[in-house]
Amino acid sequence: MTTGNKENGKTRHFETLAVHTGAGPQEGSPALVRPVQLSASFALPEFGPELFDALLLESDRPPHAYSRWSNPSVRSLEDKLAALEGGEAAMVTATGMAAVSAVILGNLKNGDHLLAQELCYVGAQELFGEQLQNYGIEVTMVDTSNLEQVKAALKPNTKIIYCETPANPILRISDIKALAGVARQNGIKLVVDSTYATPYLQQPLRLGADLVIHSLTKYINGHGDALGGVVIGSQAEIKGLRKKMLVHLGGAASPFNAWLIARGAVTLPLRMEKHCANALALARYLTSHPAVERVFYPGLPEHPHHQVASRQMSAFGGMLTFQLREGLSAAIKMAERVKVFSYATSLGHPHSLIFYYPTDLYIDQAAYLSEAQKKVIREQWMGEGIVRVSAGLENEADLLEDLCSALKD
Ligand SMILES: *Cc1c(COP(=O)(O)O)cnc(C)c1O
Repeated sequence: MTTGNKENGKTRHFETLAVHTGAGPQEGSPALVRPVQLSASFALPEFGPELFDALLLESDRPPHAYSRWSNPSVRSLEDKLAALEGGEAAMVTATGMAAVSAVILGNLKNGDHLLAQELCYVGAQELFGEQLQNYGIEVTMVDTSNLEQVKAALKPNTKIIYCETPANPILRISDIKALAGVARQNGIKLVVDSTYATPYLQQPLRLGADLVIHSLTKYINGHGDALGGVVIGSQAEIKGLRKKMLVHLGGAASPFNAWLIARGAVTLPLRMEKHCANALALARYLTSHPAVERVFYPGLPEHPHHQVASRQMSAFGGMLTFQLREGLSAAIKMAERVKVFSYATSLGHPHSLIFYYPTDLYIDQAAYLSEAQKKVIREQWMGEGIVRVSAGLENEADLLEDLCSALKD
């Protein structure tokens, strides 16, 4: 990714911003690595406009008052992530789901309509499909990679189109630019969960999205040791969300986790190169393996959305999904045999992880999907014996050997 952002008036490349932004000496401390500021409260300014700013969050960078509002270590991370994504401002949250719920509840009210992706991160999918109705929010879930479905589902009260691309776990790709066009034409917002891609591979704001969400727990932290989330967008949008959602709903990040995540984000470019290379090698290997029915990786030319992925991503990420011919029992056997891979959920960690999806749990029982939707998903993207792989940072040959042994009869 060569598109850069400004630092002191000069355009800098991604790697430089990853190291420099939100880092370095600050007033009162010459430390190049900023100390973590584990304080719940901060000494308040004298009575006057600054005090009101600290308490009411009126300016873009109010003085810190209380760490649910803002905190220096969290703000340093917010500065870094806004720069990397090419956005004006960022709001870091305790988890990725706190970012998703902040965007949804901060923008929608009773009587509004959400147009959401039918198959995405399961926490978000269940929030949309099972919970928002309880608050009087109407939800339609469609395949956002299909523009006609999206257009047909728009209503006069639609306020948000929500898409995740690449989508967890099936790696469907939605065309961000095309969706942004539909959103703009209808005066509504496009929200993109870009966790799988990271800003190193894909920058939805530059393609016309209004808000970008990441689970920082995944690649951006990259070390598997802290939870976090972020929303990135315009200054006005983020300021509004911080007041409404962080202050009132309370999903603020721990300063220590923010510090860990900022430290992890420094090496995001290097790590993504390795995650992508390992994932591509695994995808190619599995494609020709006799036990494997099919492989989903947007970097393979036979992936149904390879062209869109090539247009909007600079590489294809560290995640792949494949289906074993012998179904769930073969997936379980493999998960129990691997030694270099770990059988664990989550993704974007140094360790390579595999996780199998019992289709009946994920698809058959989803009451918010129609039978027709389930049929298409099962036939085209899921089915029995689906395994999700997060390619880690280990040696490629060791990973291939481990899968090869685990898949032997
Ligand atoms: C993991 C994940 C989330 C949720 O993030 P948490 O940090 O676990 O709350 C949201 N979206 C995607 C795509 C994810 O992979």
